[in-house]
Amino acid sequence: MREGYHSPQVDVEVRLNTNESPFAPPAAFVDALAAEVGRIDWHRYPDRAAWDLRVRLAELHGVAPEQVFVANGSNEVLQVLSLTYAGPGRSVAVFEPTYAMHAQIAKIVGSEVAEGGRAADLSLDLDEVRRVVAEHQPAITYVCSPNNPTGMVETEETVREVLGLVPGLLVVDEAYAQFAPWSALSLVDEDTPLVVTRTFSKTWSMAAARLGYLVAPTWVVAELEKVVLPYHLDSLKQAAGRIALDFVGEMEQRVSTLVEERGRVVAELVDLPVEVWPSSANFVLFRPIARDGDAVWQALLDESVLVRNCSSWPGLDGCLRITIGTTDEDDRFLAALRKALA
Ligand SMILES: *Cc1c(COP(=O)(O)O)cnc(C)c1O
Repeated sequence: MREGYHSPQVDVEVRLNTNESPFAPPAAFVDALAAEVGRIDWHRYPDRAAWDLRVRLAELHGVAPEQVFVANGSNEVLQVLSLTYAGPGRSVAVFEPTYAMHAQIAKIVGSEVAEGGRAADLSLDLDEVRRVVAEHQPAITYVCSPNNPTGMVETEETVREVLGLVPGLLVVDEAYAQFAPWSALSLVDEDTPLVVTRTFSKTWSMAAARLGYLVAPTWVVAELEKVVLPYHLDSLKQAAGRIALDFVGEMEQRVSTLVEERGRVVAELVDLPVEVWPSSANFVLFRPIARDGDAVWQALLDESVLVRNCSSWPGLDGCLRITIGTTDEDDRFLAALRKALA
């Protein structure tokens, strides 16, 4: 049997393990969505093309709606990409450590996973990209920026270089892009095999909704539409996405609050006996210097603080990842960590 995606959902007081937003979306969003429930034709199938939602997303990013594909979380976006462009006899390139679902989905659809490493500081290593691409000719190459779990952003120069190397599609997973200084969306056009994926789960405070999308050339979107199940995106979810886009300012406000809080948490962490990676996302990767990662993870859990244990991931010996929460949650984490390291 294949191992599934593993992220324990433990009952704790402080949940900082899955990079969700600690803030709920605005009450006015919930009210507007509740009103929308009464307007849905529940006896009819949803708009198969999710057109109105795509129009709104296209406006947000200054692209055409035909360049937008929407699905049940960006995980389903990635799955449909793999079903369409990868599969048996084709390979998918990933550079570990990175988001585990890229390789997981590739394997599930029967692709070979061409696994590359990273530089010692966990940044993307262009020589390694060259090696993997030349050896495996991947149908899909993944770059995650900011990268989960390191939090590091790839520069525009790096993404352009990788684009010049890949024989197939380059998929830049931007689940955390609103926390970062630039976006690869600016590089998407009809003549470039570049796909940028986004999600409502993190910056939009809507993990419960399961909604994600990509921006790509129209010819990519047209292929995906042939593969995805008909009516996969229900009417309520389409409405939730449209209504969320009426609250862009509030989303940006939450993001800047979290960026400020991230600065505070990192400043506290660097004073502790841990190694800390610079983050452009809503999480921070760190490694206790003198103590075992598993032991620290358990000590935090004993204080009812759940963080992500990355210590068995490739290249992340002893590392833990904390999602930035509310000030109170982060203080609980920092207190528990001090105790664990004392
Ligand atoms: C959380 C995450 C996702 C998953 O997003 P969903 O839209 O919730 O499926 C995708 N990519 C990365 C890098 C993530 O961290």
